[in-house]
Amino acid sequence: MTPTYDDAVALDRADPLAPFRSEFLMTDDPVAYLDGNSLGRPPLRTLERVEQTLRHAWGERLIRSWEEGWLDLPEQVGDRLATACLGAAAGQTVVAESTSVNIFKLLHAGCSLRPDRDEIVATDSDFPTDRYLVDSVAAARGLTVRWVRPDLVEGVTEAALREVLSERTALVLLSHVDYRSGAMLDVGAVTALVHEFDALAAWDLCHSAGVVPLALDADDVDLAVGCTYKYLNAGPGAPAFLYVAERHLGSVRQPITGWWSSADRFAMGPTYEPDPSIRAMLSGTAYVPGIVAVDASVSLVAEAGIEAIRAKAVALTDLCVELVDAWLAPYGFVVASPRDSARRGGHVTIQGPRAREVADAMYEAQVIPDFRNPDMIRLGLSPLTTSYAELWRALDVTRRIVDAI
Ligand SMILES: *Cc1c(COP(=O)(O)O)cnc(C)c1O
Repeated sequence: MTPTYDDAVALDRADPLAPFRSEFLMTDDPVAYLDGNSLGRPPLRTLERVEQTLRHAWGERLIRSWEEGWLDLPEQVGDRLATACLGAAAGQTVVAESTSVNIFKLLHAGCSLRPDRDEIVATDSDFPTDRYLVDSVAAARGLTVRWVRPDLVEGVTEAALREVLSERTALVLLSHVDYRSGAMLDVGAVTALVHEFDALAAWDLCHSAGVVPLALDADDVDLAVGCTYKYLNAGPGAPAFLYVAERHLGSVRQPITGWWSSADRFAMGPTYEPDPSIRAMLSGTAYVPGIVAVDASVSLVAEAGIEAIRAKAVALTDLCVELVDAWLAPYGFVVASPRDSARRGGHVTIQGPRAREVADAMYEAQVIPDFRNPDMIRLGLSPLTTSYAELWRALDVTRRIVDAI
């Protein structure tokens, strides 16, 4: 039996995370927001914290605020984020800059730890910024890229990685959750495989941070980056995070050697000496309003608990797959995400005829999904804000659209 609207409402009533919706700025428009994996909704506490920072800490305390707490924000908020959802001990994570800039630093840092190796492994279907940066960093360092082509739905396989890994591999960059299909890799198993070749495992966590529990320390991950404006809800362009395992601190080198990464920022000495701590991955003056936004938003994830968030992500994506099978499959739509929830992140992708027109009509009807060329509609389900009834209504609207088109 296909779940009814009343079934969805009953799921909401029983949902331990349902009260968290009132922690966010919610409006009647749109009818359903299924793009929290591209830009999360604003938590009320984040809006308040940013305003307070601007009005009070900046407006009233002025330059004194640096000494009153701002100087250590990148690593302090990094630690809180690491505790809330990365499974990483303190001292290995900073919040700064964009994911793109951090990927650039991470690639150089990883290669600097394997100076006698001359290959980077990456996937040819990763998010564009990841691929472009792999290409440019490889060119700058005179390295060769070994591109792996993963299956769209199932992701990268161990066999495909074994084909390209060798004693020439310096570093492997992979997305934990594929931005297209939501296919999720086993971080521990893949990292162990990469380590068999004494290469470094670098993970892009953009589509997992805040929705899938991670265990970076236990999984022996070397380096990682991720977004804070997706499932972490810190706002458009909020600064990203960067993780370097403690065993590499002191020896990693990254190329944007600004004063904030130097051993003694205020000595303002004649030559650069990298900080021995995770601060070595910083560059310039912290963007304070962005970092406090990350702090406030992460506190919500910490309160909800990442395991509870994951449990709801599984339930939401399961319901989504069930409704797509029942309502959209008859019109030729297929689920282009793993059917096994253990291998799927927080979104479900569907592919079908005239997907572009369908996505446009969904937008018109105030149901906001995400469209990826040429024919993928991504349905992003953000456990702290998406309700079961919202998802049900969204797919109900979609089946009418698909029927009419
Ligand atoms: C969202 C996303 C990015 C975004 O990078 P920005 O520098 O924030 O634009 C990068 N990589 C992946 C895999 C993403 O999903």
